[in-house]
Amino acid sequence: MRLLVIEDDPDLNRQLATALSDAGYVVDRAFDGEEGHYLGEIEPYDAVILDIGLPKMDGISVLEAWRRAGRAMPVLMLTARDRWSDKVQGFDAGADDYVAKPFHLEEVLARIRALLRRSRGTRRASSIAVPFASIRARGGSVSRAIRSS
Ligand code: CA
Repeated sequence: MRLLVIEDDPDLNRQLATALSDAGYVVDRAFDGEEGHYLGEIEPYDAVILDIGLPKMDGISVLEAWRRAGRAMPVLMLTARDRWSDKVQGFDAGADDYVAKPFHLEEVLARIRALLRRSRGTRRASSIAVPFASIRARGGSVSRAIRSS
């Protein structure tokens, strides 16, 4: 799984990248909107963490440009706690979820896991693997119930 972190605060960028790398993701980092927009346009990321307040190109514009170009990867936006309008604009621009600053890294990790799960589920929707596994699981519990009665 390959992720992109776009955050202009160097400490926050490093903390996010470190936590995500420790969790087993491959992480690229960008520190302004132009650089982040460029990377998201040319590289196949599984998800992006996108700060809204960025130099050179703000996060909303980055997201709008990606979605206009057909880039559909899940995007988790980082917003300032008191800026509710950022959240509305972000969702309208195509964000999938948000975390308000200041946040706990654990929450970011959990939200990224949820986004990746949902996007994998969408891609696999036509597969029979999941129904088959659940039938087998039910069969197993039935046979255990029969043996124990
Ligand atoms: Ca910022």
